[in-house]
Amino acid sequence: YMKGQGRNGVCEYDGKLQSEYIQKLKLRDRLKNAIAEGSLTVNYQPIVHAQTGQVNKFEALVRWKDEVYGDIPPSRFIPIAEKYGLIKPVGSFVLHQACRDLKALHDAGYTNVSFSINRSVKEFINHNDDPAIWEITQQYGLPDKSIIIEITESTASKESSDIQSLLGFFKKRQMQVALDDFGTGYSSLSAVVDLRPDIIKIDRGFIKEICRSQDSLTLVSLIIDLSHKLGIKVIAEGVETEAQLHILQKLQCKYVQGFYFSKALPFDQCLTYLSQSYRHSEVPVF
Ligand code: C2E
Ligand code: MG
Ligand code: MG
Ligand code: MG
Repeated sequence: YMKGQGRNGVCEYDGKLQSEYIQKLKLRDRLKNAIAEGSLTVNYQPIVHAQTGQVNKFEALVRWKDEVYGDIPPSRFIPIAEKYGLIKPVGSFVLHQACRDLKALHDAGYTNVSFSINRSVKEFINHNDDPAIWEITQQYGLPDKSIIIEITESTASKESSDIQSLLGFFKKRQMQVALDDFGTGYSSLSAVVDLRPDIIKIDRGFIKEICRSQDSLTLVSLIIDLSHKLGIKVIAEGVETEAQLHILQKLQCKYVQGFYFSKALPFDQCLTYLSQSYRHSEVPVF
């Protein structure tokens, strides 16, 4: 038994012994605890109108700080939640928290603000046993149009027929749907025409390259033009520099989101952010 050999010794030993599989099981158990103890939180990243700089949308992003492991990014634990049947409790927590926070914003007078919420396609499987999203938002007294549901492009096209009927339900309800990480999933152009989301979010991988790669620039420009011709709004993700913003403005991209403007903020800071940048009359509505 090798514990007690000093910090590094233990780490190395554990690292060799524990397969990725065991790590995942541990994370799964910690995540179960986190859900039970209510120690997940939700932060909000501003989505900025590219021409005016106004903000009336935020993306809700789940956060988890574990006592032992520290901050665990959603890119690590969402796939684990999906795999081990925990995505519904996680998604339900995020939805309720986001609704509570959005209702607080509306009550504070920011009635034009909407929240964009990520949903795993897995959360929609057997969704007949759960209350529908609009039942929950209604419970909080929120209008359907103040919620945007983000679905990742690659998963949406894999389960295209299910998603398509789901999108139909959202459309009937004026709830908007955004196709997330667009461009990474090799979905055909006709799939986009068929799905006809309200919003397309161009993956940050392309935005990262627009200043130095002609191909990326061409692609981004094409996605924006195609979307506009189909009546779909575009959000560029991962905008980190002024140069990227300028290019996107020239391409008539309507909304931008990224560290250049702000990271995802805890709710109280999001209120401060709004009070500094929000001018009711100028805020464009989708
Ligand atoms: P996403 O939905 O594409 O969210 C955008 C991610 O990009 C966020 O990472 C955000 O913090 C990050 N980001 C924003 N601006 C920039 C930038 O300028 N540069 C860089 N490098 N990154 C930027 P985060 O919060 O770690 O989330 C990762 C992914 O986890 C999300 O990607 C989403 O797919 C998933 N996720 C997050 N919250 C939830 C949730 O509540 N439910 C579900 N199902 N998935 C979630
Ligand atoms: Mg997203
Ligand atoms: Mg996503
Ligand atoms: Mg994305």
